[in-house]
Amino acid sequence: MDSTFTLVSGNKIPVVGLGTWQAEKGVVGQAVKDAIELGYRHIDCAAIYGNEKEIGEAFKEVFAGDVKREDVFVTSKLWNTMHAPEKVEDALKKTLSDLGLEYLDLYLIHWPVHQNDDGSFLPYEAIPIGDTWKALEACVDKGLVRDIGVSNFSAKKVKQVLQGARIKPAMNQIERHAYLQQPKLLEYCLSEGIRVTAYSPLGSPGNSMYDFSEKAVIETEAIQKLAEKHNVTAAQVCIRWAIQSGTVTIPKSTKRHRIQENATVDFKLSDEDMKEIAALDKGHRYCDGSFWTKNEHYTLESLWEGTE
Ligand code: NDP
Repeated sequence: MDSTFTLVSGNKIPVVGLGTWQAEKGVVGQAVKDAIELGYRHIDCAAIYGNEKEIGEAFKEVFAGDVKREDVFVTSKLWNTMHAPEKVEDALKKTLSDLGLEYLDLYLIHWPVHQNDDGSFLPYEAIPIGDTWKALEACVDKGLVRDIGVSNFSAKKVKQVLQGARIKPAMNQIERHAYLQQPKLLEYCLSEGIRVTAYSPLGSPGNSMYDFSEKAVIETEAIQKLAEKHNVTAAQVCIRWAIQSGTVTIPKSTKRHRIQENATVDFKLSDEDMKEIAALDKGHRYCDGSFWTKNEHYTLESLWEGTE
C-alpha cells in the first residue's frame, strides 16, 4: 500500500490511487475520507467530474488531523475548454480553490481535444499543444503544481509535447486493463521516462456509458480463476496486474469495503499468470472517445492515431 513509483522529476507517486469519476456528490467526500483512513495516499480528480468542491471539504477535515497535505498525492486535469495558454493558470487556480489546496502534485491535459466554452469543437491544430504545455510549465515555475502530464495521448501526440518541452511530461494517464493492454504505448512512455497510470483498471464495470454485451473484465473466466488460485477477488487480480506491469492505477469505488479491497494487493502474480492475462488483450476500448467525434474536426482515427 505504501509502494511508490518515481516520476521523472524525482517526486514519488503511490502506485494505487482512488478514482473519483462518477463518484456522486453526497458520497464522494466520504469515499475520499474512507480511502485516506484506510491508507490511500493518492486521489485522482478532474474539474469535469464536478465533485472537486466536496473532495476539497473532505481534504480540509482530513488535513486537520494526523495526515498532512504533503502526505497525499493529488492529481487533477485541465478540461478541453481551457487549453488556450491564457486560460490554463485560471483553470488550475479554480481546481485548487475547489480542492482547498495550495498546489497539486500532478496536473494533466485531460484529452487531446479542444473545445470552446459552448462545447463546440476546435481542430487539434488550432491551439498548438506546445503552447498549452508552456502555460503548464509556467504553473510549475509558480509552485502551483509539482508535475505535469497528459491523458489519452497517443505516442505520436506525446512526441509533439516532448518536442518543445522544457519540463518533461511526468505521466500519461490512459485506459488500461486486460482487454486493452496498449503494450507499445506503455513501452514508449517508459522509454521516455514518462510514467503511465492505468485508468478503468477493472474495465469500469456497470458504467452506464459503455456496452457490456460481452463479459466485463472482472467477470472474465481467466481472471476469476486467477482470483481463486490466489484466494483474492477478481478486482484485486486486475489491480495487482496493473502494478506488476509497471503502471500506477486508480480504481474507483465509493464503497468502503471495496476501497479497502482494491488497495489490498500485496500478493504476487507468477510469470505464468501474467502471460495468461496478456493473452486476454483484444484492443477493446470502453472510453473510446466517440463522444469527441460528432463534429468535422475529430475522428476515432485522428484521436488514437500513432498509439501502436
Ligand atoms: P474502474 O475500472 O475503476 O471501475 C469502477 C467501477 O467498478 C465502479 O462501478 C465501482 O462501483 C466498481 N468497483 C470498484 N471496486 C470494485 C470491486 N472491488 N469489485 C467490484 N466492482 C468494483 O473504472 P473507472 O472508469 O471509474 O476508472 C477509474 C478512475 O480512472 C476514474 O474514477 C477516474 O478517476 C479515472 N479515469 C480517467 C479517465 C481519463 O480520461 N483520464 C477516463 C476514465 C477514468 P462502486 O463505486 O459502486 O464500488
